[in-house]
Amino acid sequence: MAKKIITPEETERQDNYMRRVLDRNSALKRRPTACIKTFGCQMNEHDSEKLAGMAERMGYEIVPDEAAGKYNGRFCDLVVLNTCCVRENAEEKIFGHIGALKGAKHEYPGLLTAVCGCMTEQKHIYDDINSKFRNVDIVFGTHDIYRFPEFVYKAVFTGKRVCVPPGSGDEIPEGLPIKRDSDFKAWVTVMYGCNNFCTYCVVPYVRGRERSRNKDDILREVESLALSGVREITLLGQNVNSYGRDINSGTDFAGLLGEICDRVQGSGLRRIRFMTSHPKDLSDRLIDVMASRPEICAQLHLPVQSGSTEVLRRMNRRYTKEQYISLVDKIRSRIPGIALSTDIITGFPGETEEDFAETLDLVKRVRYDAAFTFIYSPRVGTPAASYPDQVPPEVVHERFDRLLELQNGICRELNEACVGKTFSVLCEGVSRTCDTRLTGRTESNKVVNFTASPPYDVSDGSLAGRFADVYIENAQTWSLEGRAVNWRL
Ligand code: SF4
Repeated sequence: MAKKIITPEETERQDNYMRRVLDRNSALKRRPTACIKTFGCQMNEHDSEKLAGMAERMGYEIVPDEAAGKYNGRFCDLVVLNTCCVRENAEEKIFGHIGALKGAKHEYPGLLTAVCGCMTEQKHIYDDINSKFRNVDIVFGTHDIYRFPEFVYKAVFTGKRVCVPPGSGDEIPEGLPIKRDSDFKAWVTVMYGCNNFCTYCVVPYVRGRERSRNKDDILREVESLALSGVREITLLGQNVNSYGRDINSGTDFAGLLGEICDRVQGSGLRRIRFMTSHPKDLSDRLIDVMASRPEICAQLHLPVQSGSTEVLRRMNRRYTKEQYISLVDKIRSRIPGIALSTDIITGFPGETEEDFAETLDLVKRVRYDAAFTFIYSPRVGTPAASYPDQVPPEVVHERFDRLLELQNGICRELNEACVGKTFSVLCEGVSRTCDTRLTGRTESNKVVNFTASPPYDVSDGSLAGRFADVYIENAQTWSLEGRAVNWRL
């Protein structure tokens, strides 16, 4: 598929819309507010940072998302719901939010509401919102995110609804303003879309086919993040291991990672992570680069989805249980101590008790540091949704509980083995659950809640973004507890 980069003319057009909305907002008596509510994965979180960047350029103050379009007891002027369609219950939740905004719009007619993201890339959902939720002013999908200024302009200046049907465009939105959530951690997209068509997944339908960003654009973004003091980046793509295949750049993902490491050497950017890696595409070259570059965290998210080769075949994952386990063995032999995490679906159509036992067996053998476990959710338009042998909900829930119990036990044991050791932790600020402790993450991506002794003060905001050596005193199932014994300021 040919790749189209947004043209300079299109960028200029959107800049013009931004300026016109900014002029209008600057003339208001108070600065208008915008809240962007994000559902779903890291891709969506990063898209929301771009929406926030554009909204800020249009003169909106970005405020935290609070109930039903309100911030500090007052309605926002712009509310954006950036939606996810990976699971049915996420969709139901989002429809609840859209419904709640109806009342908000009634009370404050000046409220502008927008719904975007993966949900609105599905024709049946788009049609539903378009016909049943007339309170939504702007509807657009993931492909048209760069046209957000145009949509806001048209809605504000004409008072009419702007609804863009799904399924258009394969552009790569370079150069959009980004308002990042953190000063020291950043997402960097390396590619969009997916070509794999796993039979349960809507991503190829809603995010389109694989489109890699130009290497130079990625390197420029990484360099500028390093210069601005960012300490950790996560490279994003639905399947980063396919990077470069569509653009004949002569660089694969391993090559890209190596070049990124070269560019950030000597800077304060000390951690590089990436996600997601399809096991069938994870190359020896990538393992070599990970093993040889200290900037790349010894941590890998490697979704397995099931331990049954038969279920994997029907999921169209294109690897067997044995191939997955030998890949894990190879990675661990080259990168000792690497932390592994995964995604697992329980109750895929046709999953028998024997299939599920294979999953439990795989989990026992791999011993993941973290596993994101999901109950299978049929998605309209995917092949698996019409498979005849759907597993009864009570059976799925019982299996899900057993899997969770097993994984929780493994997490706890692995965390207990950390007690008495010292880890480098990137401090993220004061813990949300306890204001006398800081929180951060190890290289292996484990959450650590920790104390700091004088002269360092927990309430000192400047500790966020610094590395601390933390001595681990206690282990919980999902986190570690300790005390900072040294700061690298
Ligand atoms: S590789 Fe991931 S994103 Fe692509 S179709 Fe499969 S599950 Fe979906």
